[in-house]
Amino acid sequence: KVRVRFAPSPTGGLHLGGVRTVLYNYLFAKKNGGDFVLRIEDTDQSRYVAGAEEYIFDCLKWAGLTPDESPLHGGAYGPYRQSERKPMYRQYAEQLVTQGHAYYAFDTPEELEKMRQDFKTEQNPSPQYDHTLRLKMRNSLSLTAEETKQLLAEGARHVIRIKMPENESLSFTDMIRGEVSFDTSLVDDKVLLKADNMPTYHLAVVVDDYLMKITHAFRGEEWLPSAPVHVLCWKYLFGLDQMPQWAHLPLILGPNGKLSKRDGAKYGFPVFAMNWTDPKTNELTEGFREKGFLPEAFINLLALLGWNDGTEKELFSREELIQAFSLERVHSAGARFDYEKAKWFNHEWIKQTDSQSLLPVVKTILEEKGLSTGSDHLLEKVIGLVKDRCTLLPDFYDQSSFFFQRPATIDTDSVKPKWNEAKQLFFAEVIRHFTLSATWDAHEMETNFKEMAAANRIKPGEVLLPFRIMLVGGKFGPHVFDIAALLGKEETIHRIKNALS
Ligand code: GLU
Repeated sequence: KVRVRFAPSPTGGLHLGGVRTVLYNYLFAKKNGGDFVLRIEDTDQSRYVAGAEEYIFDCLKWAGLTPDESPLHGGAYGPYRQSERKPMYRQYAEQLVTQGHAYYAFDTPEELEKMRQDFKTEQNPSPQYDHTLRLKMRNSLSLTAEETKQLLAEGARHVIRIKMPENESLSFTDMIRGEVSFDTSLVDDKVLLKADNMPTYHLAVVVDDYLMKITHAFRGEEWLPSAPVHVLCWKYLFGLDQMPQWAHLPLILGPNGKLSKRDGAKYGFPVFAMNWTDPKTNELTEGFREKGFLPEAFINLLALLGWNDGTEKELFSREELIQAFSLERVHSAGARFDYEKAKWFNHEWIKQTDSQSLLPVVKTILEEKGLSTGSDHLLEKVIGLVKDRCTLLPDFYDQSSFFFQRPATIDTDSVKPKWNEAKQLFFAEVIRHFTLSATWDAHEMETNFKEMAAANRIKPGEVLLPFRIMLVGGKFGPHVFDIAALLGKEETIHRIKNALS
């Protein structure tokens, strides 16, 4: 059975690339009738950020990408938080030591710092703990077996490092990039188990992917340089035939290279799924949700950042994405994020979503701005009338506030100076007519209005704009008779009188 995982470290907000990784995991799992696991990789306690885990859950919930197994949802392979799995890892690190693929290292932080200073050269400004240096350090490869035993018996602080082989070429087939090879001599001896028995990411990711029976692993291409360490651990511990198939997803590019938080601040577009305030710096990074994106539009635009179905089709529902998604069509080159295009997706989604479904979110937006929106029935009609004019959800306020409150100011300059007496008389007649009319229908109103204009030898264009400004305050909004119809007879008459006075 296909099993995939999204394995975030709770270190801050979830950026576009992260959510896209979730999405591709999700689509692949659903398409193949598989399971989507969410695993929290919190072994690096120094990078832990309060609130980041809840934030991840909230983002997935908003985007509708619900995991089948997670710390919240439970599952048969838990716990799903690596810190809670701590006792499981040491045995695997020890197994590697016994096999001769890893070793105990006793170096103190001072000794490591000294190494970095002593071996620094112009060609090699930051020397790594690797096969060229390992015998110069204090570890079970450079010490005698007796010395090592003695140190361990004394409970000396130590880590376990992988012993990267020299001059071995290591390769695996990435589902997106094809064959990828590495020269193991270029990789340092990464720590696998830390002094406090906590695994590093390198060990934990392999052990957990194994224990959780993961079959396909998707992650950002920034993890490609670590892949040789993982492939070796797989080879030594569980066998390469057990290893999940890897897919390293391309970067998302901003205006200047890799899309970053700073781009968002600089160009005024969101780069996180939801607003995130860093608890340490109080710095706010804007999210798509708060900017006014519909979750459907958000996942649609994300899916298309690096994938397409081979046709011109761009608008996909969740179900259509699940059907159409295939890894073969994920590009290996970076995908460029274009905010204008992102807004286009949202606009299209607002247009094609029915008013009833939009109602709760629009209602919240209007109420947060202090409007009382009256009956849902009316609001639904208003939404239907203005949604084609909205790109981001807050646009509903600008496009419809005049239905729920009288315009604070009326752009009288555009109306009054040019009014001659005839037009004044015309609107007086309109009021009389509206007052007497037994029905209140947009179409009928328009016919009568135009007939009255003709009878008074006024071109409709000369009175339509003033009529609109009377009702909404400015030169915007949907069809003016539709507006009047929804405002109702009394309110329409009130606004005309008010503007004339
Ligand atoms: N914990 C890693 C991260 O935060 C996950 C990498 C992986 O999926 O293997 O990105």
